[in-house]
Amino acid sequence: MNSWQFETTVTAQREDERGTWIALAETHFYAEGGGQPADTGTIGGQAVLDVQRDDSTVWHLVNEPIDEATVVIGQIDAATRHDHSIQHTAQHVLTALLEDRYGIETLSFGISADDSSIEIAAESFDWELIETLERDVQQIIFDNRPIHIFELQDGEVEHDRLRKATDRTGTIRIVEIDGLDYNACGGTHVSTTGQLGIIKVTSMKKVRGNVRLTYVAGMRALTVIQSSRTALRAIHQTLSTTNETVAARVAEERTARLEREKEVKVLEARVAKAKVAAFLQEDNYVITHIGKTEAETLTTMIVERIAATGRIAVGANHTGQKLLLMHDGTHDIAIGKFLKRTLDDLGIGRGGGSHKQAQARFESIVDLERATAEVVKRLQEGVVSC
Ligand SMILES: [Zn+2]
Repeated sequence: MNSWQFETTVTAQREDERGTWIALAETHFYAEGGGQPADTGTIGGQAVLDVQRDDSTVWHLVNEPIDEATVVIGQIDAATRHDHSIQHTAQHVLTALLEDRYGIETLSFGISADDSSIEIAAESFDWELIETLERDVQQIIFDNRPIHIFELQDGEVEHDRLRKATDRTGTIRIVEIDGLDYNACGGTHVSTTGQLGIIKVTSMKKVRGNVRLTYVAGMRALTVIQSSRTALRAIHQTLSTTNETVAARVAEERTARLEREKEVKVLEARVAKAKVAAFLQEDNYVITHIGKTEAETLTTMIVERIAATGRIAVGANHTGQKLLLMHDGTHDIAIGKFLKRTLDDLGIGRGGGSHKQAQARFESIVDLERATAEVVKRLQEGVVSC
């Protein structure tokens, strides 16, 4: 037995909608608090889903009830605890440096499954500052400064050194990072700054007039760095770029794509004009356009142009497995209702629309073709009553 594994007795239990909360005669589980999540692990072989403190009792959430007076083994997941200790201690370092070197106060802190964040009292902060901050942080890590944890009576605490004033009385737990931080804190910590490994800020966002910095430390930082490298390698392979050239190249690619999109639009407009001119040779009330290989934008453009001539336009786009119906509003057919009823009768596709335009999507081209044929048939036969 050690502090990760301990034998104890169940002293109380209570139920709520989340499960059974167990109190123990002795516990080493950390209850959620101060921005740090609860420990995970097992009690009597059952997974501990949450740990909360109320007044002086620590409650452990499990799935199945355990009778009072049962002797159980508590097992804390050491890896999760260690990770939480790293993320939390990293916050001490970030907060101390931000305050002492930049005069910026930390307002709140939280650890989630993938990353952690601090909200800082700054109207703005930029990536250059973040790089400087990361270098300052890294120096503290390289210094491998000891982190001392000790309990003092209220009167023994050097209150003027405290990072943040505390209104606690009696025994106060002090966490001190050599030459950097002197803090009243009940969280869990690593014993030297070297154990933080690396701290990386991953994002910066404005929130409520402040700035939120998201960061990762320890193994989480390594994971993020590795995943960034994987993403970047894929881009380099595709575009034959290097870290130095990639930003300019992506910008070039984007500009080129926007140019091409403009050209495509012009060409589509020409194609649409030509196709519609051909359709207008026919004297039909309903005109059907089938786009087997074209983009949805072109089918839409053609349908719109046909409708503008006063006909009822039916457009089937195979690429998007989409059916479009449109008229110019002068026809006495609520085309959305008509399409919906036809689809309901056939039992395929999903769609609907307004009085003069409607659309539907299908799971297969076969369904699209069936629906197109039925819609055209009903429109031509005039079996439309809407
Ligand atoms: Zn702490």
